[in-house]
Amino acid sequence: MADRINILPESVANQIAAGEVIQRPASAVKELIENSVDAGSSFIRLIVKDAGKALIQVIDDGMGMSETDARVSFERHATSKINRAEDLFALTTKGFRGEALASVAAVAQVELKTRREEDTVGTSILIEGSEVKSQEPCACPKGTSISIKNLFFNIPARRNFLKSNPVETGHIIEEFQRVAMAHPEIGFSLHHNGDEIFHLEATNLRQRIIGLFGNNYNERLVPVEEDTDIVKISGFIGKPQFARKSRGEQFFFINNRFIRNSYLHHAVQNAFHQLLPVDSYPSYFLFLEVPPSSIDINIHPTKTEVKFEDDKHIYAILKSAVRMSLGKYNIAPTIDFEQESTIAFIPPPRGPVAEPTITVNPDFNPFKPSHTNPYRGDSGYKQISVPSNWDVLYRNLHPEETAADRTILSQDPSEVEKEPGRGTFFQIHSRYILSQIKSGLMVVHQQRAHERILFEKFLNNLMKQPAMSQKLLFPEMAELNAAQVQALVSLRKELENVGYEFEQLGGNSLAIYAVPVLLTDHQASRELEKLAQELLEETSGNMERHEKIALSLARSVGIKSGKMLTQEEMSMLIDELFACSIPSVSPGGKPIIHTIKLEELDRFFRS
Ligand code: ADP
Ligand code: MG
Repeated sequence: MADRINILPESVANQIAAGEVIQRPASAVKELIENSVDAGSSFIRLIVKDAGKALIQVIDDGMGMSETDARVSFERHATSKINRAEDLFALTTKGFRGEALASVAAVAQVELKTRREEDTVGTSILIEGSEVKSQEPCACPKGTSISIKNLFFNIPARRNFLKSNPVETGHIIEEFQRVAMAHPEIGFSLHHNGDEIFHLEATNLRQRIIGLFGNNYNERLVPVEEDTDIVKISGFIGKPQFARKSRGEQFFFINNRFIRNSYLHHAVQNAFHQLLPVDSYPSYFLFLEVPPSSIDINIHPTKTEVKFEDDKHIYAILKSAVRMSLGKYNIAPTIDFEQESTIAFIPPPRGPVAEPTITVNPDFNPFKPSHTNPYRGDSGYKQISVPSNWDVLYRNLHPEETAADRTILSQDPSEVEKEPGRGTFFQIHSRYILSQIKSGLMVVHQQRAHERILFEKFLNNLMKQPAMSQKLLFPEMAELNAAQVQALVSLRKELENVGYEFEQLGGNSLAIYAVPVLLTDHQASRELEKLAQELLEETSGNMERHEKIALSLARSVGIKSGKMLTQEEMSMLIDELFACSIPSVSPGGKPIIHTIKLEELDRFFRS
């Protein structure tokens, strides 16, 4: 038999390897901006069209490349950042694997223009699917500009696999924010489809966070500082009462490199224990510095996962540092609040001034479980709960639906045939509804049942009959992040159909004018934020966008397990459930109804 092993052609090898480094437009964005950071740039511009599917361009004013380097930079394992294996343990640059440009060039049409300060002419290279199409001298400013067009043009499967534009744009904004946050000393801008989403001048970390997330972050941030032999921690955490309804503003950087690490996340979450309003997530922007030799960032091609030696100690130090900052702030909340606003009016002191003294209760422990949390309940949040009259609310929505309509229970495609008798419901553990049916016993999962009902109603609003909307007496402001705003704005039409009315006020603020009738009892800005976040998440798979919206809304207003229901509410819920097109499965694909046959019960008691 002939030998069977071939060495793959370079272009095929590159394409395979590209899959690991470049998974989506946002990965290309990350690699390009990081290269510009490594090139010592002072301002980096990112220009994106159609969520990066049509164009990703990064323009920097960094050191540029020589003609030869420009050509070689597209080779696999071509890097100027390390020479020897030992260098891996003393990294000071973002890149070092020499794979990014080779990977991008394997799966897109790439144009590079670059010039070093000392050269009079620059170099322009066109490369497509790893094939150099042209290379020529060009007049261009000092620095480097790389455009990536039609990402994955030669791998249709990959291209089709990309998510919707709001989701991909969300990922791009996320990567942009991570690099911009790690480098406040560099200026950045981001344009998407011609709109400038960010313009950030070089500054300090606090101002950079404010530039990325909005002016109101100024009063929300509490500094964290800790310096030990093992790790140096700096950065900010968000005050507990500003915790968000959506995860998201949670950033860890190790040696100035963004990483994900659930273990460290847990340390922070733990430090916040008991200080957060229910259902909310703390914000944090934390920088950890450790000796480069004590971590391995090489375990993942995109370098977002990091292994480090001393993780147990780091966990403990991190948790206590965060607690300390929280404690400091919590001991004297009045100083933070009242003086912050009045202090500006106090005339500057003349002559020597006695140091102000603060009396604090030394026994005060904000972490003691018995401590009543000042931020719960009276914090100005409306407790999000189901209005007691939720059933009435949606009865009004469908005035044409009479009690008679609701007896069409036998239409249910499943084997469930409910007895026509009413008042035969039992609720157990505020979670399940039991009812007698012809063949035995039916158990209904109340939360999922309501989710199904609302899902179909909202879907109907989106597809056929726009919902009634409730105008707010006063417009409510929502401060969101850039990705959330982009997602909502791009789905404005659909959101209007379900009853939302809002306007973008510049930056990341939205004014909400009207909400879906079903949501009148909820805090509009929090619900909209939750919705935006769900729209950005990929957990709902490849659902159609209107299904995604309907599901997110259904999840926010649905009654939850743990809510006691009256006979009437239960009866209504069951009736509405069986009027649904698919009563037995939740929109997320989980079972709603379980039946136990009489024979099963009989069999059980036979012995
Ligand atoms: P790595 O960053 O891991 O070294 P890349 O494939 O990202 O590998 O880049 C290859 C090389 O091309 C870099 O090491 C650097 O020398 C050069 N390079 C890439 N982008 C730029 C840029 N914007 N400015 C200057 N040089 C660059
Ligand atoms: Mg690189």
